[in-house]
Amino acid sequence: MDEITQERMNLLIDLLNDANYRYYVLDDPTITDQEYDKYLRELQEIEAIHPEWKKEDSPTLHVGGEVIDSFEKVEHKIPMLSLGDVFNEAEIVSFLERIENAGFHPNYVCELKIDGLSVSLHYEKGKLITAATRGNGVVGEDITHNVKTIKSIPLRLKEDIDIEVRGEIYMSKKTLETLNKERIAHGEKPLQNTRNAAAGSIRQLDSKIAAKRNLDAFIYHLPNPLDYDIHTHHEALDFMKKLGFKTNPNNRIVHNIGEVMDYIHEKGQMRDKLDYDIDGIVIKVDSIDQQMALGYTAKTPRWAIAYKFPAQEVLTKLKDIIFTVGRTGQITPNAILDPVIVMGSTISRATLHNEDYVKNKDLRIGDIVSIRKAGDVIPEVVEAKKERRDGTEKPFEMIEQCPICQTKLIKKEGQVDYYCPNAACPARHVESFIHFVSRPAMNIEGLGDRIMEDLYNFHFIHSIADIYQLYTKKDQLIKLEGYGEKSVEKLLDSIEKSKENSLERLLFGLGISHVGAEKAKVLASHFKTMDQLMRATKEELMALDDIGPIIAENVVAYFADPTNQDIIATLQAYGLNMKYLGTEIVLDENFAGKKFVLTGTLTKMTREKAKALIEQLGGKTVESVSKNTTAVIVGENPGSKYDKAKSLQIPIWSENEILEKVEKLN
Ligand code: NAD
Repeated sequence: MDEITQERMNLLIDLLNDANYRYYVLDDPTITDQEYDKYLRELQEIEAIHPEWKKEDSPTLHVGGEVIDSFEKVEHKIPMLSLGDVFNEAEIVSFLERIENAGFHPNYVCELKIDGLSVSLHYEKGKLITAATRGNGVVGEDITHNVKTIKSIPLRLKEDIDIEVRGEIYMSKKTLETLNKERIAHGEKPLQNTRNAAAGSIRQLDSKIAAKRNLDAFIYHLPNPLDYDIHTHHEALDFMKKLGFKTNPNNRIVHNIGEVMDYIHEKGQMRDKLDYDIDGIVIKVDSIDQQMALGYTAKTPRWAIAYKFPAQEVLTKLKDIIFTVGRTGQITPNAILDPVIVMGSTISRATLHNEDYVKNKDLRIGDIVSIRKAGDVIPEVVEAKKERRDGTEKPFEMIEQCPICQTKLIKKEGQVDYYCPNAACPARHVESFIHFVSRPAMNIEGLGDRIMEDLYNFHFIHSIADIYQLYTKKDQLIKLEGYGEKSVEKLLDSIEKSKENSLERLLFGLGISHVGAEKAKVLASHFKTMDQLMRATKEELMALDDIGPIIAENVVAYFADPTNQDIIATLQAYGLNMKYLGTEIVLDENFAGKKFVLTGTLTKMTREKAKALIEQLGGKTVESVSKNTTAVIVGENPGSKYDKAKSLQIPIWSENEILEKVEKLN
């Protein structure tokens, strides 16, 4: 521990409060959980030695979250607390001893500590009414619209009772893996881990996004057990399961430290095989009477504790740093590692993102580095073990020329990345082909990175248009290593099918700078055909919602380039569809560009249908009422949004208003 001074304490408070903000509000932490826990420990120790220094804003006194304004607020009548942490057997023993010393000899329930975010669910007469985040423990955010998309959370219980239950919303490892692949293909930053991905998804204002994220939940807490004549935690778990909630099958009643440790070892070993992340084990006193007698601190219950697993990091040697060129010409340094097994899979390479990243970590070739898999998915170099250097390590040097075509690299002002400016650089070509066939673009199966490189190196493909000529080379393809007749036929089928894709896929696949999948859809749905889009001026493009000057300029420049015009003409000649095939947007002056909020149960259509119709008329639905809301569309039993609309004097519409507009259009 550093020297015990008030300055050190203040520094830790600032550092931890900042980490809390990044973790709970931005869902984008910049320090590891282990670092956070280590600093929190140090702060607790300083405060224990010098209670007179304790400050009101100390993170040891508060539950970490904050509530963002874009959500309605929900007050927790019974506060949602955090859990005290322990990190080894001795600390678990002292927790058990503290309870024994208070005169109790309880049974305990051991549970997996699911790495997600906690949720409180309120049901009235068996119907889900509100779902809220923990927030700061006293006030949480209303996330009902998103929670309703989670299939394992019942909208209706098996009994018509009023009840509050609490549990953990999480994202499975598989879902994060798929999501990250898509994000990378869209040029977006992969999400760090399942916890941040779940928290980020549940706090989307648009429930369509949350619905796509495939979230799940385990329920583990009944705040008012005595109301249901329940006197032990394990009975509460059974009761909630019978009501239709998903409880975790690994929960177990234990009686002593030996059984607690057995549980920890057993679950620690099966951790990798679980489809969801756990970061520890929770140990809870089973008897509700004893729980009540033990009580709470401001931040945690005294009758439960979380044992946190040690970080899964392993050491290996950084053998080399090599550079790769992306489709936009972006240069990325990559760590080449002595192969090492991390959480069940062999890692020999990890991205080092950019020059600043390597320099900040002071990574040197020959260093022993610690590696972990962020979110169990993406390998990450955590740090260099500087104490193990022997002087032979080579400092990192950023290259000045493209490793493939030797063109001098450029760096745009204010940016961290270097680029190869040569549009004809072969590396950029291969990457752009890989992007073209990727799932969110033309979705051609069977053309992975390696195969694409082969096809380029063996001169099968020089431009994306050549992909549609591969059928003329069927016999040669079959002879390529790793290919057989069946897989070639499947590939050619997939290529043929992709010709029918709607315009936005092709647009995204072309790789126009900054035109991601969503912007491509905006452009395609507005201009309808490639031809009309190619003729659009910068002003016409900028007139669209969501299209700013940079994208508008990029689009105009892309279509003005004769090489690109040739490619598009060739693709058209090869039979590719050049039209938008999605739902037509018919702008209606009462809806176009306006914002609507839905509340209550709609009787004439589903909420999804209402949202789709509003979009079709050019409007948007948003979740919370503000002075910018055009109208609130009210169904039966409207919620607090209705009251807020009245107080802000926002017009109140019925469902008929939407239906009438749609009828008029037909
Ligand atoms: P916690 O994660 O240590 O434990 C409490 C939470 O565990 C509960 O609120 C609940 O959501 C969850 N939980 C999961 N399974 C459970 C079960 N079976 N029974 C009961 N609860 C269960 O506490 P916290 O306050 O949510 O978060 C603090 C932790 O978050 C820190 O210790 C740190 O690891 C991490 N954190 C990291 C950063 C960072 O920058 N990396 C910042 C803030 C917090």
